[in-house]
Amino acid sequence: MSAPGYARRVAGFGTTIFAEINNLSLQHGAVNLGQGRPDFDGPQEVVEAAINALRSGNCNQYAPGRGIPQLMEGIAQHAAVFYDLEVDPENGVLVTPGATEAIFCSIMGLIDPGDEVIVIEPFYDSYVPGIEMAGATPIYVSLHPPDWVFEPDELRAAFSDRTRAIMNNTPKNPTGRVFTRAELQLIADLCLKHDVIVIAAEVYEPLLFDNARHVPIASLPGMFERTVTVGSAGKTFGMTGWKIGWVYGPPDLITGAWRSIQFTSFATNHPAQVGVAHGFAMGSSYYEEYQALYHGKRALMMDVLAGAGMKSILPQGTYFVMADFSDLFDGDDVAFTQHMITEIGVSCIPPSVFFTPEHRHITKDHVRFTFCKNDDTLLQAAERMRKLRG
Ligand code: GLN
Repeated sequence: MSAPGYARRVAGFGTTIFAEINNLSLQHGAVNLGQGRPDFDGPQEVVEAAINALRSGNCNQYAPGRGIPQLMEGIAQHAAVFYDLEVDPENGVLVTPGATEAIFCSIMGLIDPGDEVIVIEPFYDSYVPGIEMAGATPIYVSLHPPDWVFEPDELRAAFSDRTRAIMNNTPKNPTGRVFTRAELQLIADLCLKHDVIVIAAEVYEPLLFDNARHVPIASLPGMFERTVTVGSAGKTFGMTGWKIGWVYGPPDLITGAWRSIQFTSFATNHPAQVGVAHGFAMGSSYYEEYQALYHGKRALMMDVLAGAGMKSILPQGTYFVMADFSDLFDGDDVAFTQHMITEIGVSCIPPSVFFTPEHRHITKDHVRFTFCKNDDTLLQAAERMRKLRG
């Protein structure tokens, strides 16, 4: 007799939407505007720094478990220069194999079985499996289209004496919204009132447009002590394949995350950390050029969507845009995604997977597109999407 295959804790998980859409895209030769995965390279000097690290022979063994000092310093400096945050580079930073791991080790290191964790929908798909693996319970609060804002009363009602944490993400995947200071202050007030910590996924922080300002929730009065902030080299330097992420915050919370990660990944890729540390040393002109590049791509993407007959709100941040396809197609976001990939030849992400089943109807008329692509790729998608208008 053989033992059944899966542990109960993973039996319900299925395959991530990103893997699923990537497979379907390959099968149908679709232009893939699904996963946030650039099809152009990041800064060459960052690549060179990693190559030199590999060749030096000094970086091919384990890095220190919390990260290499020059990268931890760079992360702390970035928070100081851009947001006036005082991060302890030695005890207040943890480098991780990607931001998804940073989120996971923060959950595992800071949340107990039986705790409640507030999750704002749409949410990044790793949050809920992480919360469930920790034995905690997600409590959902939805953002509402077309502007993707929460109802303050719905947020208030989600807090209870069992709430331990809230997962907060801004600039927001998949909606492209950047929370205002007033919205963040309301979240912060509730966290202070109920003694709740924040796991703040702020990985799209360098991707802002027009007048949007990123306010780290950790920068609001009284919040630094109760917030861990997650960042990503995939997003900051366009190197998603390097899988370098980080989390910073007060030393006691970071130590919780560290205790957990010691026994999962132990340490993070050493030469890639040297490359990312070099990225942080490039200076502020890098971020200006990065935003200018994406400004152009956002404009092109908006033209592509308008040309195809979809309605969308200009994203204020991230490289994602939500498009309302209801004038073009009868069916929900999952059916439309299928139609797009198999009949039109362009991939997107159905955002209902970022909602709990009871709330999926909220986003049934939208799909998410990414514009972290070469202009030629976006133009090829535009050409194919002409067919949508019949
Ligand atoms: N954050 C990326 C996105 O939303 C995906 C990252 C991943 O596939 N794990 O597209």
